[in-house]
Amino acid sequence: MAKYNFEPSRTLGEFLLMPNLTRRDCMPQNVSLSTPLVKFRRGEKAAIEIGLPFVSAMMQSVSGEKMAVALSDLGGVSFIYCSQTIEDQAKMVASIKKQGAIVGAGVNTRDYEQRIWALVNAGVDVLCIDSSDGFSEWQSDVIAFVRKNFGDKVKIGAGNVVEAEGFRYLADAGADFVKVGIGGGSICITREQKGIGRGQASALIEVVAARDEYFAKTGVYIPLCSDGGIVTAKDIIIALAMGADFVMLGRYLARYEESASEKVVVDGKEFKEYWGEGSARAQNWQRYDSGGTSGMKFVEGVDSYIPYGGKIADGLGVTVAKIKSTMCNCGSLDLPSFTRDARLVVVSDASLKEGGAHNLIERAR
Ligand code: IMP
Repeated sequence: MAKYNFEPSRTLGEFLLMPNLTRRDCMPQNVSLSTPLVKFRRGEKAAIEIGLPFVSAMMQSVSGEKMAVALSDLGGVSFIYCSQTIEDQAKMVASIKKQGAIVGAGVNTRDYEQRIWALVNAGVDVLCIDSSDGFSEWQSDVIAFVRKNFGDKVKIGAGNVVEAEGFRYLADAGADFVKVGIGGGSICITREQKGIGRGQASALIEVVAARDEYFAKTGVYIPLCSDGGIVTAKDIIIALAMGADFVMLGRYLARYEESASEKVVVDGKEFKEYWGEGSARAQNWQRYDSGGTSGMKFVEGVDSYIPYGGKIADGLGVTVAKIKSTMCNCGSLDLPSFTRDARLVVVSDASLKEGGAHNLIERAR
């Protein structure tokens, strides 16, 4: 008989934080957002730490050269998409490395042997397996290939998973970080097309508990990346409070000038194009067509426009200010204490409504 979980699957937008005591030293200028990108042993430091807990999605419409350099300058890191030829991806990585930037790259579970060698030779700092479902023997094969050829020198993340068993499988396989999330992406129609996935908050809460248990048992801390479904800064804040070490952003970054897509004007308004890797436009069949090589028989993503967001430095500056301000409300000066001390509540529809401006005619903000 099938197994059931009758707990409704929750999303990030259904939670709020309650404040803790704000001490006198809790001021935004004292808050650090630095975070480990790859696993480390208890008492040691991660081999790669980033100053901002943001990474850009492995997508044609997001992570190109300009995004990688701009995001690295701000303290985050981009993962260059692998739905392009090995030569083109390696060339892009090499060119980003020449601009004094840290850069990641996606790899798939098909041509990974040649692709990983080319990316390593191009100077890539960190790899990540690009797949909508990471609980697979193919991912374990890719990690084994990296360990056999490069030992621990080459770092590789895996995913995506949405529950404890999938996390433990990738942790035991040797993943340097694990990505969490299936079906929550803004351009994603996986849940609708295939009936598979889980609300992002429920997925994150279960995987964080499994990660903490793994850390207690083995002394190895595996960073988690919350991937997909970030709509506003508030969602980033909730994901970090729940124990994500960093978030992967698609739409949130695609709207900025530096993203890899074109700016277009529709009816006098500026937009950026944003399309999913599972859309007919991206044709990233390696990410979706598990096992087969026949090309995509159906799509799992859409092609869209999103309102233009200006320069990334301005946009992320405001996002960072919001995160730091909330951390001060919660009495936290760094991310580990933020998640350790966070107190979260589920909100009702009525209290969500109460949380916006209401019962008035808004003139300005
Ligand atoms: P967003 O930040 O909500 O726009 O979601 C971005 C994430 O959606 C990516 O990092 C991928 O994990 C996932 N994704 C990218 N393209 C597709 C697609 O076409 N279908 C489903 N998920 C996708």
